[in-house]
Amino acid sequence: MASSLQDSTPSQKRIPVTILGATGVVGQRFLRRIANHPWFYPAYLTGSERSVGKRYSDACQWHLFSEAYAGLGDIIVVPSDPEHALAPIVFSALDAKAAREIEPRFAAAGAYVFSNASAFRMEDDVPLIIPEINPEHIGLLQDQKNRRKWKGAIITNPNCTTVMLASALAPLHTVFGIEAVIMTSMQAISGAGYPGVPALDIMGNVIPYISNEESKVECESRKILGKLFSTPAGKIVVDSTFSVSATCTRVPIIDGHTLAISVKLRNTTTLQDIQNVFSVFVPKTQGYALPSAPRRFIRLSTKIDRPQPLLDVNIDEGMSIFIGRLRECPILDLKFVAMGNNVERGAAGASVLNAEIALALGAIQVPPSYLQEEGRKIREGLLAGKETGGAA
Ligand code: NAP
Repeated sequence: MASSLQDSTPSQKRIPVTILGATGVVGQRFLRRIANHPWFYPAYLTGSERSVGKRYSDACQWHLFSEAYAGLGDIIVVPSDPEHALAPIVFSALDAKAAREIEPRFAAAGAYVFSNASAFRMEDDVPLIIPEINPEHIGLLQDQKNRRKWKGAIITNPNCTTVMLASALAPLHTVFGIEAVIMTSMQAISGAGYPGVPALDIMGNVIPYISNEESKVECESRKILGKLFSTPAGKIVVDSTFSVSATCTRVPIIDGHTLAISVKLRNTTTLQDIQNVFSVFVPKTQGYALPSAPRRFIRLSTKIDRPQPLLDVNIDEGMSIFIGRLRECPILDLKFVAMGNNVERGAAGASVLNAEIALALGAIQVPPSYLQEEGRKIREGLLAGKETGGAA
């Protein structure tokens, strides 16, 4: 028998959230995180027309090494619109085209939408956040709400390759200044969603092209490492000026993007100093006790053969950035390898951490009355959804 999410997650102390695109690669990681989260609980799972009205277990090809469907396989998937699925916090795992249409409707209706999609990342009034690096960019939110006349807002996390690159560059940029970066990625197949790249194309192969990926990495890194300014017209982020040249490839790895990075610095230094800068970097999340923050944000290895996706990708629930093979570059100044979990640090975990820092900083609020009153509405809405689901 199908059941409601409220039946299985009765806590009224936690904040109800919606997962848009809950059936996909990123969506199911959202569900696994939210089902066990101390601050949030899943109120709605949405999908495309393909899935609406089905049990989650029938709509979703679950492929995580954990309890199937996070124990919520009987939940009915509802449409991705605020009339059926409005919660105060929304996590979006929609593809970019669907996100451009659907996310603003949730923001207009009052939700804070934490989006993985690229649709709004580069818009001037939309924060593009890595909480350990640039949480202050969340200061763009009020202007976004005013300008767009939304009750809620959209907050984004970077592309799954950008997050590894920008995280690795941040300590260097702060201390030495960066002038130029050359990066080649070896990206996992989970980055292509489900069903993703056909096995016949990727097994035993390297595909030297990922649509739109290189331009995202080149632009997003400069925005994330840019500075927030207040002007008479509102707050703006002025991008960093260093240049990035990216080559993105797909390799037959399930999870974990590996990046080979060469950097030219503004101020010359030694490898030992660079190693120290990575080792002592203090993430801006420190002191907030955020549930999804890794115990260690940057993990620098001096072992000659690390990092490796197979060995490192799930450490700290996939939320650390791994750096290794630090050495001099005969053309630029230094080179190294960075690696991280594309579906956690690069997607679901990143969004959840964004929501946590936004709440911790007081940049977004969920009034207690919403929890109580909307909680009731959500229950009613869910029952309606259940009936729709039964008839579909
Ligand atoms: P995916 O496996 O293809 O899942 C896409 C999800 O979006 C599914 O739940 C699908 O629902 C839903 N959807 C598609 N069109 C829709 C529509 N018109 N209306 C409502 N729902 C719709 O993709 P993914 O890998 O999870 O990626 C999701 C997003 O995260 C993308 O924007 C992607 O670029 C981004 N991202 C992915 C990664 C990664 O490593 N995979 C990393 C960073 C960012 P149905 O199943 O019901 O059709």
